[in-house]
Amino acid sequence: MKILAVNAGSSSLKFTLIELPSQETIASGLFEKIGIGNSMYTIKFKGEKYTKELDLKDHAVAVQVLMDELINMHIISSLEEIEGIGHRIVHGGQEFKESIVLTEDVLKKIENYNELAPLHNPANIMGVRAFMKVLPHVTNVGVFDTAFHSSMEPKEYLYPVPYEWYQQYGVRKYGFHGTSHRYVNKTICEYLKNPNLKVISCHIGNGGSITAINAGKVVDTTMGFTPLAGIMMGTRSGDIDASLIEYVMHKTGESITEVTNDLNKRSGLLGISGISSDSRDIEEAIKSGNEKARLAQEMYVQKIANYIAMYNNLLDGADVIVLTAGVGENSIMTRKMIGEKIASLGVVIDEEANNCRGELKLISAAESKIPVYVVPTNEELMIALDTMALIEK
Ligand code: ADP
Repeated sequence: MKILAVNAGSSSLKFTLIELPSQETIASGLFEKIGIGNSMYTIKFKGEKYTKELDLKDHAVAVQVLMDELINMHIISSLEEIEGIGHRIVHGGQEFKESIVLTEDVLKKIENYNELAPLHNPANIMGVRAFMKVLPHVTNVGVFDTAFHSSMEPKEYLYPVPYEWYQQYGVRKYGFHGTSHRYVNKTICEYLKNPNLKVISCHIGNGGSITAINAGKVVDTTMGFTPLAGIMMGTRSGDIDASLIEYVMHKTGESITEVTNDLNKRSGLLGISGISSDSRDIEEAIKSGNEKARLAQEMYVQKIANYIAMYNNLLDGADVIVLTAGVGENSIMTRKMIGEKIASLGVVIDEEANNCRGELKLISAAESKIPVYVVPTNEELMIALDTMALIEK
């Protein structure tokens, strides 16, 4: 069965065509600058990369072009081969606790949460409607970033603020990257043949979040009402004292929107180093003696270590720590530094084993009290698996 996993942004559309149950990626690609001029797209198939510039006035046009290309490039021989389309949807509010078949009624309900993810949800929904228009007979499934975290209890998801903010406005921790955390949890539980593991899942990419999972249920996660909370990230601050917002507004004359934008886009590794949000650039700068880059990296790693220690306590002792996403899967230096900063938990990283990238691997030493694994994430595969499961239901 062929399933398309889709991630639609306001001017982009990312897709992966996956064969199930073999889990083989058949083709993948990205449509960019949709509706804003100079649009282009890239399709990867059998190791070749095909790029074309073409005016794409909206997402429906992009979907039509994609379908034409899938046929022209002999990736599929007819559109009937696509049996389902799984869509990443960022926010499912408190209502959507698992993936769901999308109908116009369901989309209207999801739109109720647009206010909670104004940059993402409207774009995700636009992508769904584009596929519904071009492929009206194919099942569409919504897979929510927030859903996996819906098992958190009130004592974890509530903020200690006036209770009516929660009751009236839905102010609470929702958590994000749920599809990735669910995938790596499932992968490590299958690999270690134990569905009841207590897992600390560290998704460390450009964005980053850490999740404490007990027997498949999220106990707590670092991102919050929005993805701004938790650990320090590429460009996001992570946790800060909320009072600094008003203070900085007074000092700089910036609006609240501008300061919030600074916290999302000009902070984190970028804000401290002044160089880049990208871990590779930070590592290079450290090697050439840049002190601010070193400071940024030390802060970055410390905050990750702090949350791992906190979640080890919350889980009453974790069975396994998992590192995933761009930095977690690839940055040997960051993993080594995290290991050193959680040495008090009895964690010992094996230098030789840690010398790896992008593969499922045990990187801790035999004497490590908690084993540490690198587990490559695959949100697209998780989306495709959910889609298949709902089609077969
Ligand atoms: P996103 O949140 O955008 O999905 P990714 O999970 O792709 O992010 O992670 C991007 C991050 O991964 C970047 O900071 C990048 O520097 C880092 N990264 C990728 N490859 C390497 C590498 N070989 N060494 C260090 N960092 C890497």
